[in-house]
Amino acid sequence: MNVVVFSSKPYDEKYLSAANAQAGHKLHFLEARLDESTCTLAAQHAAVCAFVNDRLTTHVLHVLKTFGVRLIALRCAGFNNVDLKTAKEYGIAVVRVPAYSPHAVAEHTVSLMLALNRKTVRASHRIREGNFALDGLLGFDMHGRTAGIVGTGKIGAVVAEILKGFGCRLLAFDMFRNPACEALGVKYVELPELLAQSDIVTLHCPLLPETYHLINGFAVAQMKDGAMLINTSRGALVDTPAVIQGLKDGKLGYLGLDVYEEEGELFFEDKSGQLLQDDVFARLLTFSNVLITGHQAFFTEEALRNIAETTLGNITAFEQCRASGNEVKG
Ligand code: NAD
Repeated sequence: MNVVVFSSKPYDEKYLSAANAQAGHKLHFLEARLDESTCTLAAQHAAVCAFVNDRLTTHVLHVLKTFGVRLIALRCAGFNNVDLKTAKEYGIAVVRVPAYSPHAVAEHTVSLMLALNRKTVRASHRIREGNFALDGLLGFDMHGRTAGIVGTGKIGAVVAEILKGFGCRLLAFDMFRNPACEALGVKYVELPELLAQSDIVTLHCPLLPETYHLINGFAVAQMKDGAMLINTSRGALVDTPAVIQGLKDGKLGYLGLDVYEEEGELFFEDKSGQLLQDDVFARLLTFSNVLITGHQAFFTEEALRNIAETTLGNITAFEQCRASGNEVKG
């Protein structure tokens, strides 16, 4: 198929081209992010390959439809950036990569927890400046602490496994109990109880209308004093100003983010030569107990290989009128 790949970086091109050696599609790589101003670049392509911050709005889908686009192949797990209702109306199929490496995201999640707890970044800066004092670097044992996992699907379950290895007490909130988590000894509780009892709260549920700003001012107030909040799922699960208030009040002890509600304007680009225009993000950067990475939790060799192979497989299956099993239903 003739496929236009939006938001393409050199690493996307490398892994997708390698996977395409067998699949044989015609891939056209574009650095541009897909949105209302760039969607005309999809002309003369039957399929669009998109990533997390591409915006498949009603208008974009309308334009894609007029160009004869029949498939949107998301090279990510989440699909909150696609107007699925409109895609269905226009008969545009949407496929995704539901699992490529839950380990990649889970391991990054735990690395944020450890780095925040043990102040690794601050310690490293100090050492480079010749300051070997330990004041301000006091951490806590993970062993015996309570971790609350919100969403125990593929990623949440691996986080549970890793934290079990540390000897954490594990609580979880999910509408569906994961037997693998139960076998590890995870105790399912309602969200308010999880928030009230957890030293660490980590988010692994999808962004849906019902999970939008799941962590708002009310939720922060329910959390344990000094607790750690980690979000490697989707930015809009967290109401950022409410969390900033929690940090200012000292209610929240630590915040680790790999995602941010307004990340579309920032992440995946080198903006080091520009003035930061996002005041909320700028405020987050002022806290020494906040650690932010730029949506890199997925970014491992294994994950990129799996993403590329599954994406190309999804496109081939669509072309051959076969179900890939990775269709997103509207
Ligand atoms: P998954 O579908 O396997 O699991 C999601 C779980 O969340 C399911 O068990 C589901 O029942 C649960 N859930 C749904 N609504 C919920 C709610 N309101 N409260 C609590 N639980 C709820 O998904 P996954 O593969 O584990 O991925 C989880 C999320 O991680 C994705 O939705 C995606 O947004 C994010 N993600 C981030 C990165 C990254 O690089 N930062 C990479 C991949 C995925």
